[in-house]
Amino acid sequence: MSNKLEWSFSALTTLRKCNRMYYFQYLAPTHHFKNPLRRKAFELKKSKNLLMWRGSVVDKIMENEIMPKIKDRQPLDFNSIADNAVALAKRQFQFSEQQLYKIKENSESKIGADYCILDIHDANVPYTEEALLQVYSSIRDIIMGIPSIVMPDGKMLLLEFLSKASFIVPNLRYWSFEFENIRISPQLDLFMFVDNKAIVLDWKVSESALSDYSRQLIIGGITVFDTYRKKALQNTGRRLGFDDIRLIEVNLFKKETKEHAFNRKAVDECIDYIYLNSEDVERLTEGKSFEDLNIEEFPITDKESTCVFCKFRPLCKNILLSNNKYDEKAYNDALPAKQLA
Ligand code: SF4
Repeated sequence: MSNKLEWSFSALTTLRKCNRMYYFQYLAPTHHFKNPLRRKAFELKKSKNLLMWRGSVVDKIMENEIMPKIKDRQPLDFNSIADNAVALAKRQFQFSEQQLYKIKENSESKIGADYCILDIHDANVPYTEEALLQVYSSIRDIIMGIPSIVMPDGKMLLLEFLSKASFIVPNLRYWSFEFENIRISPQLDLFMFVDNKAIVLDWKVSESALSDYSRQLIIGGITVFDTYRKKALQNTGRRLGFDDIRLIEVNLFKKETKEHAFNRKAVDECIDYIYLNSEDVERLTEGKSFEDLNIEEFPITDKESTCVFCKFRPLCKNILLSNNKYDEKAYNDALPAKQLA
């Protein structure tokens, strides 16, 4: 059996925050219903709070509606796209509210874009009708704001830039790169060529001024570099350079764009970061199957602030109180009373 490590940048970030969170997020979840702990971890992993949900609806619309239209050179009617986005959000809300995800036959692959688990329904997190309406109106505002977004040079509109693209691939998941014994599989929101440069573009819908996505984009850049380096040499005899790749972050909520540096220094720093953390992954899992892992070997964090924002908190608490076993009845009994819509 190969003991090659396969992971993504977000797995690494999670591991640094809390080993137990890594266990819940990356090792335990499975969509099958056979093992209640693993199924609960799956539902919690998929569940979103209202802000995350807003971002995911916008992402879906970018991937399934806006980028395909740009690719096919079709006109974009943002008013009707915004209507479709809000309609999608409302269908997702209903799916989640009726807890249709708890029915075996309703797998994500079968349901498609309407599949959704919201923490307000799965963990009975309280919310107000006003907050819900705010999500719908914010989704509309974000979509309607896209035509006014300007590229980092301040001269060209984002839509103009996208219209120049060739070989557009939204939501690219199947590329990866490998070094030492580690395979990194990033998820690229958008990959394309513009003016003979390979573009890695990431959509964000974050309101935070502190979020830094540079490493995530650099990993995307390394993956593209690795994929095209050999091709370019074989097909054109040209050696691909770092400046043949551009990394662009587009914050659709703030209507801001940012270009991240892609050069030797940035790549080396990123590789060092991956390499240092990969040792922790290896030490924790040692290539074992889930059944052979011991949850006690994944310690909980001592930083309370990490737990405050952890979506696995109810499950984590349940397991701690039940002698490292999952007690489904106690879990359901401990949830706050369901809020009426
Ligand atoms: S609740 Fe805290 S300790 Fe438990 S998994 Fe989450 S971050 Fe880790």
